[in-house]
Amino acid sequence: MNPTIPLLEWKISSNLKASRIIQNQEGLPAYNCKCEWCVFWKLNYFEILPEALMAQMKRLGVDLLNPTDLYKFGGTKQEPELRITYHTVGKVLEGPSVWVENELGNYLSYYLIPNYNHIGVVLMTASSSSAFHPSYSGTSGEVLIIDLRLKITDNKNV
Ligand SMILES: [Zn+2]
Repeated sequence: MNPTIPLLEWKISSNLKASRIIQNQEGLPAYNCKCEWCVFWKLNYFEILPEALMAQMKRLGVDLLNPTDLYKFGGTKQEPELRITYHTVGKVLEGPSVWVENELGNYLSYYLIPNYNHIGVVLMTASSSSAFHPSYSGTSGEVLIIDLRLKITDNKNV
């Protein structure tokens, strides 16, 4: 039986063993990356992410120090907006739908963390995202993407 572990409003049946294996593999986009933002993230993520979220991600086998991918997608030099993706293996049992439909079609809706409204999170199967993801060929769960978009608002280190 895989344990059920919460991630914010979601509940995941977690394949912890497989999750640990897919972390920080050679070939992942951010693997051993020494770019400005990867280095910044490694030095600061623990002051940026809510503690409760970090604890949940660790329980899901996520290696917080080593995201799958990370890049700056907007903002300014002083207040960059970063996209950080992590992956875990399991099955989403319940939680907010990340797809919203309107007259323009379907779009991804980032869940904003209460009291941390500058951090948006999407949790979904990696196969329904175009983002690069590590592979898992077992049958107990599938690769899930934890997709974070956030604005660094107090960026003293740059
Ligand atoms: Zn990098």
